[in-house]
Amino acid sequence: MSPATSKPAAAPPSCPARHRARGLDPRRWLRRASRLLIAPRCLVCAERGQADLDLCSACSAELPWNLDVCRQCALPLEGVAARCGQCTLRPPPWSLAQSALRYAFPVDRLLPRFKFHGDLAAGEVLATLLQWSLDPAEVPAALVPVPLHRARLRERGYDQALELARFLHRDGGPPVLADRLRRLRHTAPQSELGAAARRDNVFGAFALHGDGPLPAHVALVDDVLTTGATVGECARVLLAAGVRRVDVWTIARAL
Ligand SMILES: [Zn+2]
Ligand SMILES: [Zn+2]
Repeated sequence: MSPATSKPAAAPPSCPARHRARGLDPRRWLRRASRLLIAPRCLVCAERGQADLDLCSACSAELPWNLDVCRQCALPLEGVAARCGQCTLRPPPWSLAQSALRYAFPVDRLLPRFKFHGDLAAGEVLATLLQWSLDPAEVPAALVPVPLHRARLRERGYDQALELARFLHRDGGPPVLADRLRRLRHTAPQSELGAAARRDNVFGAFALHGDGPLPAHVALVDDVLTTGATVGECARVLLAAGVRRVDVWTIARAL
């Protein structure tokens, strides 16, 4: 596959719309129905939103789509190669990374609201953007959300990777394997660490739970791909358990 040059340059109408017409989830249906009564508002600037997205046209035009990137690490790539030099020399354990957006405005406003403040409307906008950007030729058999430790789940009351995976499934995506991968340790937040410390921090932090075979092809789902230490460790556990191919799907790519 060539780098993702065909992804949308701006807002929704030209996006790959693989799942857009399948929104059967009652909560989404109700939200859409409510738009007939209440004009949608942009979640970033409170201007008038659009028919199927709580963003105004100006904020949509600012969306930092993560185009022209390495197929494997989703970082910017010069030229027409599918992979960057780093991934060619030392490939990560996953096969394909799809990160819809770069971690910049307005993603840097919306994502913390979803992740830390339980703002499901922001989560729905971000999940919709991820869904629109996904390559329909690269669909896995199941989605595996990167798990939170129980202690962090209690603290936040909410698991953003699981919510994201569920959203994608509800809109016609693959089933979610919610509890096959578990986080064993309550690790320090990765955002406070450098690359090497991030790898040490998550080493041995995940394990498989439950019996039964896993699908041959799964996608790990998380909010942001940064150094890849966390998804790399999750991918290693899944591959050791017999999964043949692990992809990574995230809303955003941190550069
Ligand atoms: Zn706006
Ligand atoms: Zn790469």
